[in-house]
Amino acid sequence: MPPPKRRKIAVLGARSVGKSSLVRQFIEKQFIDSYYPTIERAYVKSINYRGNEEYILEIFDTAGQDEFSPLNAQYAIGIHGYVLAYSIASRNSFEMVQILRDKIIDYCGVTDIPCVIVGAKSDLESSRQVQISELEKVAEANNAAYIESSAKDDINVTRVFHLCVQEIERRLEGNQGV
Ligand code: GDP
Repeated sequence: MPPPKRRKIAVLGARSVGKSSLVRQFIEKQFIDSYYPTIERAYVKSINYRGNEEYILEIFDTAGQDEFSPLNAQYAIGIHGYVLAYSIASRNSFEMVQILRDKIIDYCGVTDIPCVIVGAKSDLESSRQVQISELEKVAEANNAAYIESSAKDDINVTRVFHLCVQEIERRLEGNQGV
């Protein structure tokens, strides 16, 4: 088996969309139904990707962003990939995804970033404000992967992080002409 690869992933999105719950479900396999606004925290988890490749993921759970908050340099420099999260029950949080993506692009001075756009709280179907077709459209426009997920019901949580690694590797492999 080749030596593990280290990848840094930042989880960004509006406040209260379920970023911490997603990360904690992935890392600790638990859902805690109480709301403590996150300051910021880093977690480490090793995953097996594509059967035989070990990746050590360093995951940065961030405080929520809004359209006025400047991007923290910590989430721009040295980050390999992004999880951009919104809640399917909040159109405002969905609109933040594009704003955040544009901020990252601007800050990093690049035209493309590896990212997965996540429609969180997918269990809240009865309060849905954002259709999957809209998610697909935004993902396509931004060359991003996309998925809906529920930390509460543990749906597609692992998949979010595997998709992020996939987006990171897709670009690295592209650069090496593999
Ligand atoms: P953050 O501020 O984006 O990190 O959001 P949190 O993870 O702290 O979650 C905010 C609130 O949404 C909390 O009350 C969570 O219990 C709730 N929440 C998080 N994920 C889900 C989910 O998948 N489904 C539902 N129904 N509620 C969730």
